[in-house]
Amino acid sequence: GDDVPADHPRHDSLVTRHRIEAGVDAGITSKQGLIAEGRGEAFDYLLGERTLPSADDAARAAAAHLLLARHPVISVNGNAAALVPDELVALADAVGADLEVNLFNRTDERMQAIADHLREHGASEVKGLAADARIPGLSHDRATVDADGIADADVVLVPLEDGDRAAALADMGKVELVVDLNPLSRSAQVADVPIVDNILRAIPNVTDHARELADADRETLERIVADFDAEAALADAERAIRSGELA
Ligand code: ATP
Ligand code: MG
Repeated sequence: GDDVPADHPRHDSLVTRHRIEAGVDAGITSKQGLIAEGRGEAFDYLLGERTLPSADDAARAAAAHLLLARHPVISVNGNAAALVPDELVALADAVGADLEVNLFNRTDERMQAIADHLREHGASEVKGLAADARIPGLSHDRATVDADGIADADVVLVPLEDGDRAAALADMGKVELVVDLNPLSRSAQVADVPIVDNILRAIPNVTDHARELADADRETLERIVADFDAEAALADAERAIRSGELA
């Protein structure tokens, strides 16, 4: 289970593995999700399982974007649902965002299992099941979204999104916030705000920033957004990984 000692040097990796395994057993996470987890874990190892200051800046910029948004939507896949269901619901509440299930390997069973799982963790409404709109430029299953969800959103948070879909969403002109441990991944590269951090740490961090900024005026939020430099954040993460100083 989750009873990994807090001071274990690979605490986050072990917790992440356990939750992904349980997600596969529960029909929430796909087998492909296990592989994606392995790739993420390698990068977290190299980062020393730490939130870089540049990733914290990104989390703050993401919070500001979500608070400024007309219609923010948090996209939830099988890994995100298995790893941080409570935290995703808390973030959606803190910024007034919709939660939408959006799967790379879409099956009705898994869509339903994830929606049920999020409701069990306190979500009042879960989108994604209407499937009445498409993201242009993608093949059928991967393009499917809700007309009153991701299709209508001006700001989307897509944790662990695949590169093609991240690029297609960015092409639609949406502000895209990505959580991805690999600063070289296309998802991170096309994001307006790449948060290079484990989703386990990143989502609660965005929520903390959003709560702290809840009473800030638009000018303050807009300044936080304008001051954030995506390329510098990616370069900083890459530098930290190459230096090996944290691991
Ligand atoms: P592309 O370059 O097209 O974006 P990719 O190789 O990144 O492709 P996947 O392997 O499908 O595509 O994506 C998994 C991504 O999710 C990887 O970049 C991995 O680092 C990241 N990832 C996996 N687990 C986590 C996690 N717990 N927290 C944050 N990122 C994670
Ligand atoms: Mg990627």
